Amino acid sequence: MMLPQLPGFERPKRKPPRVMAKLYDAGGEVGKWICYRCNRCGWDSGWIDQTHKSDTEIKRGHPCPECNMVSDG
Ligand SMILES: [Zn+2]
Repeated sequence: MMLPQLPGFERPKRKPPRVMAKLYDAGGEVGKWICYRCNRCGWDSGWIDQTHKSDTEIKRGHPCPECNMVSDG
């Protein structure tokens, strides 16, 4: 049986939540060197320079390229 299509009741296509690799380690005497690690797949960013990012952005994490399968600069 087909349900009647209700007008204006189309489910909005929401992007699935991005998997964020979490802040794993931080350091560096010059600049902000950050290491992110994904809790889901274990992806490790290695040490990357995040000097251009704010502390808030860094704490938010880094989108995991393995879980999201996107090239997101
Ligand atoms: Zn991942």
